[in-house]
Amino acid sequence: MFAATILSLFPEMFPGPLGLSLAGDALARGLWSLEARDIREHGLGRHRAVDDTPAGGGPGMVMRADVLAASLDAALQPDDARPRLIMSPRGAPLTQRQARQWAAGPGLVVVCPRFEGVDERVIAGRGLIEVSIGDYVLSGGEIAALVVLDACVRLIPGVMGKLESGTSESFEDGGLEYPHYTRPREWEGRAIPEVLLNGDHGKIARWRREQSERLTRERRPDLLRE
Ligand code: SAH
Repeated sequence: MFAATILSLFPEMFPGPLGLSLAGDALARGLWSLEARDIREHGLGRHRAVDDTPAGGGPGMVMRADVLAASLDAALQPDDARPRLIMSPRGAPLTQRQARQWAAGPGLVVVCPRFEGVDERVIAGRGLIEVSIGDYVLSGGEIAALVVLDACVRLIPGVMGKLESGTSESFEDGGLEYPHYTRPREWEGRAIPEVLLNGDHGKIARWRREQSERLTRERRPDLLRE
């Protein structure tokens, strides 16, 4: 089973949106598990301090290596084979392919930093994999971790129905998905493309492929070069 362990200063943010709908139903059905641990339990002193001022000066605070390592060491089983991620705008951007690989594995341990980030030494010292969800800056790793988990959980076998889980989604074969339509046949003067209504599955498949290629060329030519 896919087991997620989250390390955060705000464990109450979990499961959050992952407790509802597709992911939430799967959680209730035991198709995956979620444990959110409070890093502050390993904080130092009376105030349970987890951060300190940056060496070399500058603004903000940095999460301490010793505190985060203690939190990780307490969370991991000795033979824990799960990848250990740390959310970071510096990390490798999350991809659909990566999510599919993680979804097929034993689960994930995800560290959610706050402040300016974490002491660099704990990243190497605990073999953490830095992962970004895009080129913008969030205020903490929690929402990024929810994004990573959502992308993985929906791919766990049994979470989606067979029909929905077809592999023709955006990015699966390198491109963006074709446009969708449903009833009514005409809405505010806009009609469903005729080809989708005539029941010719060969033509429909060809139309969808063309649309998918056109959209990818127009919006994400970078995906075609890969
Ligand atoms: N000083 C850092 C940003 C800190 S933002 C920098 O300039 O790179 C605080 C935390 O939010 C980060 O440590 C990271 O855990 C999380 N975070 C912010 N943006 C993110 C992104 N795009 N992807 C993943 N995590 C992000």
